[in-house]
Amino acid sequence: MEMKIVLGIIFLFMTVVMCVCIHLAGRAEGRLAKTVSAFLGMILATLIVYAVSSLSTNRLVAGIMLNAYYACIDWALVCMLRYIREYTQTFRSSQTTRAIVCGAALADSLLLAFNAFQGFAFQMEAVPVGNEIFYRAVEYGWPFAFHLVVAYTLTLLSIAALTVKAVRIPHFYRVQYLAVLGLFVLAFGVSIINWLLKSFIESSVFFYFIMSVAISYFSLFHVSRSLIERTMTFAINGMSEMVFCFDLWGKCVFVNRKVLADFSYMDIKEAAEQEFKPWFESHQEVEKDNFQWVEKRLVDNRPRHLENVFHKMTDSRNECIGYFFVVTDRTEQVEAFQKEHYRMTHDELTGLYNREYFYEQVEQTVRQNPDTKYYLMCTNISGFKIYNELFGEASGDDVLLTQAELLRRNTGFSEVYGRLSGDEFGLLISEENFSEDAVNRHTLTMQNEFSNSLYRMHIYAGVYVVNDREESAVQMCDKAKMAIDSIKGEYDTSFAYFNEQLLEKTLYERRMTGELEKALEEEEFCIFLQPQVDAGGTVVGAEALVRWRHPEKGWILPKDFIPVFENTGLLWKVDRYVWEEAARRLKIWQSAQKEDWHISVNVSPGDFCRLDICRTFADLVEKYKIEPGKLKLEITEAMLLKEVRGQAEILQKLRDLGFEVEIDDFGSGYSSLNMLKDFKVDALKMDMGFLRGSSQTERSWMIIQMVMELARDLGMKVVTEGVETEEQVERLRAMGCELYQGFYFAKPMPVSDFEDKYM
Ligand code: C2E
Ligand code: MG
Ligand code: MG
Repeated sequence: MEMKIVLGIIFLFMTVVMCVCIHLAGRAEGRLAKTVSAFLGMILATLIVYAVSSLSTNRLVAGIMLNAYYACIDWALVCMLRYIREYTQTFRSSQTTRAIVCGAALADSLLLAFNAFQGFAFQMEAVPVGNEIFYRAVEYGWPFAFHLVVAYTLTLLSIAALTVKAVRIPHFYRVQYLAVLGLFVLAFGVSIINWLLKSFIESSVFFYFIMSVAISYFSLFHVSRSLIERTMTFAINGMSEMVFCFDLWGKCVFVNRKVLADFSYMDIKEAAEQEFKPWFESHQEVEKDNFQWVEKRLVDNRPRHLENVFHKMTDSRNECIGYFFVVTDRTEQVEAFQKEHYRMTHDELTGLYNREYFYEQVEQTVRQNPDTKYYLMCTNISGFKIYNELFGEASGDDVLLTQAELLRRNTGFSEVYGRLSGDEFGLLISEENFSEDAVNRHTLTMQNEFSNSLYRMHIYAGVYVVNDREESAVQMCDKAKMAIDSIKGEYDTSFAYFNEQLLEKTLYERRMTGELEKALEEEEFCIFLQPQVDAGGTVVGAEALVRWRHPEKGWILPKDFIPVFENTGLLWKVDRYVWEEAARRLKIWQSAQKEDWHISVNVSPGDFCRLDICRTFADLVEKYKIEPGKLKLEITEAMLLKEVRGQAEILQKLRDLGFEVEIDDFGSGYSSLNMLKDFKVDALKMDMGFLRGSSQTERSWMIIQMVMELARDLGMKVVTEGVETEEQVERLRAMGCELYQGFYFAKPMPVSDFEDKYM
């Protein structure tokens, strides 16, 4: 084939490639891409011009085009220098230098333009090659030296900048500068050789072409592989997770620094292969792209909670090339969570479930075992507050800890138990494990352990047989507690089952509590008076006893509402009302010349917590201008055991204010005699009620006689109530009793009846 045709094909190919490169560079963004585009554009022009020159058969055309080629070379080198400035960032160009460079290239271009017609820089000579004619430049004149100076200066500046950059840049990036530098030096070298050898083909054109392609690749697309690898390794080593990479066959190919730091194995990769081998063998998940699980494992003999994430690696054709695991040690978080969960769900003192968690577990257990019959039991320690008061909180804690321990020891795995509040415990037991004997044994153990001369421990247990599984645990416990309430105060019973009547009773009590405020407003409460007489049978005063005139239920006696209001802590409102009524009555009597008469009012234990007793009574006396000694206060023994500090002081203060304080129902409690040494009062009120139904009447009388003597010795009066027969009056009179009250004299009656009868 003719040589020019071959050359033509080669030039065409180079032109197409250059066009593609220019197109790609045009699509890229940034200043560098722009300089690349400009440079490639110039190279394309150079290529075309040179192609026409070398393929032309006309001396003039070939000459003009060769001159144009040299001029294009100048401008290509200018563009190259601009590109190198952007690419290497090793130098800056001022306006002056830019003007000098462009001026030099322009001058050379003009020179070459003239040369095309004048031929003072070089001549064209025909060279026959085979049967084809080529033209080359010969007889170079001095003006050509100017071209060489311009072109070589530009070239050397570019080479210098590239060299400086290649030396300074870190190893990873060096190759992309060295590649451009190498090709540039090669093309430059070839052009010198060409010139020296006066070759008819300027073969440096091909090298400039290759260099241009390299420039577009390195400037616009190239990212160093080893740089990527290194960056990845760096990033993975910096991770706080452990990373294990495996090839297709399960061979460990990489572990990150975290693995090396956490494990003390000699051959960590081999150990990793052993560790993950069972997983690879047993898991189908390798089919999935990723998979996550948490497990507890021994790592260096320490139990750790590890979160594993499995990933499949694929190549560009989506074929699996290996696997990697990212393992995060979650031990700290898991332990912190478990600790927090324990704290949220357990009682701090006993370590049993706390109330909320107990409820949750009860509901869950009952619903998850629909075929098991369950008993829900609540226990309550009677007078636990008094125990705390008497022996201190540390001893109280001992009681709770012992009970918790007994629960733990005596209950099975499937049972749920917890502490509901202060002294309340809850327990869910299946029917087959439930036994009344066991409960009795438990309460007895506690009683024996903690009862002493001052305090008698008594534990009440209420049981609700769960029949509605959808009920909330709170409701179940409420029912068990209702069973407890039904036996509270009974010292020979400690165990009761819930039944529907209890529920009704509770509902009744709740309704009643709801009605209290309205009843007070509507003045539905009133006092009845029961006369108190002296040894001579003369009325000297009365006890005020409250009655509720209910708009629907009619008269309600204190026994039917006082315990209810006492439990709900509202009784003080009724008492406060009664005291005021009594004080008002005393005022009226004063004006009716009955200023000697007194009225006894009942003060319940709760009043001491809710009211400033001394203040209240002092205000009443002040308000109605009555003598304090005419208002007698009946307190109960229970009040003396209340967990209010300083009862003795309060009593003394009341007495100092002039009030008379009596202990009501003396002898019906459990530690009366003991208390008399700590609390000074004015009178003991003894209920003859305990004579009724007793077969040992004589013995009872002996006790009454003894108490009377004791009271006298301690400087206290004795008032007897519940006096029903003449015989009782006779005997009491013989013993020296000063004041009597009872049905024998009169029943409690409305105030108007009392006044009509005795005033
Ligand atoms: P208490 O203070 O011991 O009052 C005496 C109770 O015994 C009265 O019952 C009275 O009717 C009854 N009684 C009087 N003489 C006889 C008798 O000869 N034989 C018999 N079998 N009973 C007799 P009542 O009025 O039903 O009061 C019961 C209890 O309710 C009182 O016992 C007292 O503890 C309480 N109570 C009454 N009114 C009030 C009040 O305003 N405030 C407070 N906190 N409690 C009150
Ligand atoms: Mg009384
Ligand atoms: Mg009484």
